[in-house]
Amino acid sequence: MAVQTVASSTDSAAANSVDLGPAAALSCRECGHRVPLGPVFACEECFGPLEIAYDFSAHDTEELRKRIEAGPANIWRYAPLLPVPADVATKPNLNPGWTKLVQADNLARELGVTGGLYIKDDSGNPTHSFKDRVVAQAIEAARAFGFTTLSCSSTGNLAGAVGAAAARAGFRSCVFIPHDLEQGKVVMAAVYGGELVGIEGNYDDVNRFCSELIGDPAGEGWGFVNVNLRPYYAEGSKTLAYEICEQLGWRLPDQIVVPIASGSQLTKIDKGLQELIKLGLVEDKPYKIFGAQAEGCSPVSTAYKAGHDVVRPQKPDTIAKSLAIGNPADGPYVLDIARRTGGAVEDVTDEQIVEAITLLARTEGIFAETAGGVTVGVTKKLLESGVLDPSLTTVVLNTGDGLKTLDAVAGTGLTATIRPSLESFREAGLV
Ligand SMILES: *Cc1c(COP(=O)(O)O)cnc(C)c1O
Repeated sequence: MAVQTVASSTDSAAANSVDLGPAAALSCRECGHRVPLGPVFACEECFGPLEIAYDFSAHDTEELRKRIEAGPANIWRYAPLLPVPADVATKPNLNPGWTKLVQADNLARELGVTGGLYIKDDSGNPTHSFKDRVVAQAIEAARAFGFTTLSCSSTGNLAGAVGAAAARAGFRSCVFIPHDLEQGKVVMAAVYGGELVGIEGNYDDVNRFCSELIGDPAGEGWGFVNVNLRPYYAEGSKTLAYEICEQLGWRLPDQIVVPIASGSQLTKIDKGLQELIKLGLVEDKPYKIFGAQAEGCSPVSTAYKAGHDVVRPQKPDTIAKSLAIGNPADGPYVLDIARRTGGAVEDVTDEQIVEAITLLARTEGIFAETAGGVTVGVTKKLLESGVLDPSLTTVVLNTGDGLKTLDAVAGTGLTATIRPSLESFREAGLV
């Protein structure tokens, strides 16, 4: 996998003094080496990616369950399981999460699912995508480490989430996006008043640029939510797993279909489910995780189908721009999880994405962005090929709002245009 280098200016004594609640250290996902909490993201021993390690040893399961259930209707109900101080709910934050888990009976009938089909609808977050969850975490880490400027490389949704969160929490923001994103994403990122820079290139070029900026004096004191704050940012995705299980009545789903951009979300959903099992909050039973990509940017599904462990980068060309990462940092971990849990990784064409967006809209009244078209489209495809079991409880993620990707469904519109008269209405053939 691609290795990003460490560029830490924080000495570990200062890092040790931060209060990030139950987070105990950073731990390397490759070699297990541990370092104190700080704005670092790669292992000093092997350059592997770092993630948050916790000390959950002293918990009482029933006490914890009660505390969560009595918590706020947002991600901070899970503060005891996140790298944030206990009083996080009192800080200026957009407080995302606790989005609807929609029982999708109409879609289930259409697709032949009998075991229960649910849409976890994350378009209901403050900036209308799942990215508010990860930014909410990163901004608390940025606060703890004393950063005053918040930044990121983004495929669109993250830029808006950072801009809004920074505005609310009183940070400066300066974010970087490919210059040719959908207007809905650009406006959503610009309206909050931060700086928004378009880069002539694709997301992978933007990401490379940000890695350079971190190592340069120009980027000193900047918290890049998905680069030097990535271990904290990534933990936000665990809240999707927590919410899904709590909303199912503290029960694991049997199958879950997750979109893949960098793959971070999918790996942390697995981490979240594993934690709930270890903490005794759900019964330990098998679950399968399925990854979903667009055919025009399918490095992980291509590797999955070829039986490879390494993910070969691609040049993205798809309408699912929020998922258009050609060199996904977490790709190999996604392959591991799909294979270990008995899931799969599949992709759909742009045409199938559009069909799936309209299918979800007309059956459940949910207008998804292209990423939601990808997960619903892949669900349909995997049911047809018999890879998904229709008799099992299945949760499909919709991670963004269709209003941000209107071009994808530009083919829909007026049924008829008439004069304001009954005669004209009758002529239109609708009665
Ligand atoms: C960023 C994003 C994802 C997934 O991102 P990962 O990099 O895989 O964590 C999924 N859906 C939408 C709409 C996104 O913006």
